[in-house]
Amino acid sequence: MHLSTRSLLTSLFLGVAVAYSNVSESTCEHLSKALGDEVFYPESPAYNASITSYPFIQLRLEPACVLKPESAEDVSKAVKVLRKSRKSKFAVRGGGHNANVGYNNIIDGATIDMRNVSKVEIVGDVVQVGAGAIWQQVYDEISPHNISVMGGRIGVVGVGGFLTGGGISFFSPELGWSCDYVQNFQIVLATGEIVNANATSKPELFAALKGGQSNFGIVTRFDLKHFPVGNLWGGRVAFAPTADNDLIEAFTNLKNPDNFDPYAAGWVTNRYNGTAKTFTPTAIIWYTKAESAPGAWKNVSDIEPKVMNGLTTAPLVDFARNASMVVKTQQTNTIWATTTFRMTPTLAHSIHKKWKALIPKVAETYPGIVSELTFQSLAKVPDAATPNSFGFSADSHPEKDGVFLQIIFYFMDASYLPGLESALADFINIFDNLSEAEGAKSKFVYLNFAAAFQEPLKSYGESELWKLRRTSKKYDPEGFFQRQLPGGFKLFNETDEHYHHWW
Ligand SMILES: Cc1cc2nc3c(=O)[nH]c(=O)nc-3n(C[C@H](O)[C@H](O)[C@H](O)COP(=O)(O)OP(=O)(O)OC[C@H]3O[C@@H](n4cnc5c(N)ncnc54)[C@H](O)[C@@H]3O)c2cc1C
Repeated sequence: MHLSTRSLLTSLFLGVAVAYSNVSESTCEHLSKALGDEVFYPESPAYNASITSYPFIQLRLEPACVLKPESAEDVSKAVKVLRKSRKSKFAVRGGGHNANVGYNNIIDGATIDMRNVSKVEIVGDVVQVGAGAIWQQVYDEISPHNISVMGGRIGVVGVGGFLTGGGISFFSPELGWSCDYVQNFQIVLATGEIVNANATSKPELFAALKGGQSNFGIVTRFDLKHFPVGNLWGGRVAFAPTADNDLIEAFTNLKNPDNFDPYAAGWVTNRYNGTAKTFTPTAIIWYTKAESAPGAWKNVSDIEPKVMNGLTTAPLVDFARNASMVVKTQQTNTIWATTTFRMTPTLAHSIHKKWKALIPKVAETYPGIVSELTFQSLAKVPDAATPNSFGFSADSHPEKDGVFLQIIFYFMDASYLPGLESALADFINIFDNLSEAEGAKSKFVYLNFAAAFQEPLKSYGESELWKLRRTSKKYDPEGFFQRQLPGGFKLFNETDEHYHHWW
């Protein structure tokens, strides 16, 4: 078993996860036989490049081998080998931007790094996107044609996790979740069969893949509806610390349903630097109808004093690229959690006030951390004919007053991880109590920003969870993706009282 200092260190976080080997030596050999030079072993340049390319340090676990398939057929071969081994565990990695340890990589198992399955091609009214692409590849390819798709706002983020978890896009207040604009998923099932899921073929799998992430198979291609796009207005604005309440008030006003503006996308953040002991209120905003900008964002763009003003008019492809520059420079451990509520005149203020009072205390215990508290709008609900799995009723309008927040910690000292994870859980608890007290709590937990201790799939509601479980039983009756792919939010956990009933 290959176990380096780095994996020993990571094992400290994962406890029992490394008490056994996740893959038998022979499974990697069988994968090599099936996939030849697409399988890489520790210390080889391609293996090292794959591990160090994870954006957050805590994700750089060391698998026994890394597979870099080039096509859906290669993924199918890999699934057949892994399934035959019955015990070997594996991970699936798209862009690698989920912050939960073990969700996109695995110690001593086999990691399927999808990034070479990344072809982007315009075919009729859809853009066919290889599931291992990142959003910047998509936008770079299609923007010369003045079209766009519903996708990520930061170019470095992967398509695979983003779309199977939901996906808030520049256009979400107006159009909805990005996953709702997938016309077809090409997916490798547990049998190794490559199938299509869309509105007419396997519709229940089609719905399940919009929010159910890796529970049903490995998606190899997304067919995304495209639409014409012009310039957007927006960018990043940082304010003096004294502007924080004005910023929270501006966002509170934006989320008053009477002020709903379908073209106003983005988020507001307060950022605490535990070393400098300073707060920086920041807004990252876009207006998708540039000719009418700033629209409802006027109440944010008017706030003074500003310390940085990056507001401009530019093509979407440039915004996505520029936002990536900031992210790429942050080589830290990064963890987050999320919760959702309905905006009231006071709730964002009381959440912000609480965070602002507590975060310097957290930084006394964990010197050098940076933390962000971010508020964003939820997306519109899709047509009843093509549902996703999130469980919002068809006549609800979460895009008008629905807010999800994200609390993030950035830190260099890996030993902080367990302590900061429990701080995240405490914060979520405190925020939920505040929203419950105002009768404004929503049960929804956005999967793509959920911490491992949260339960986004359950948050979709009993009936959606039941549909997801039924779909898993139909397309993966032996539970291959439940048992051999341990990472990600699972539909069936061995500790779950329903587990033995289902299997
Ligand atoms: C800088 C940054 C910006 C972000 N911006 C946004 C944003 O604008 N809007 C938004 O909604 N979210 C955003 N997110 C959250 C983002 O949606 C998630 O981090 C998402 O997991 C990213 O997808 P990925 O492919 O990079 O992740 P990965 O970590 O590679 O994958 C996430 C999960 O999906 C599974 N998975 C990946 N590919 C496949 C596949 N082909 N088939 C089956 N399962 C698969 C993995 O196994 C893993 O469990 C952002 C995150 C970061 C770090």
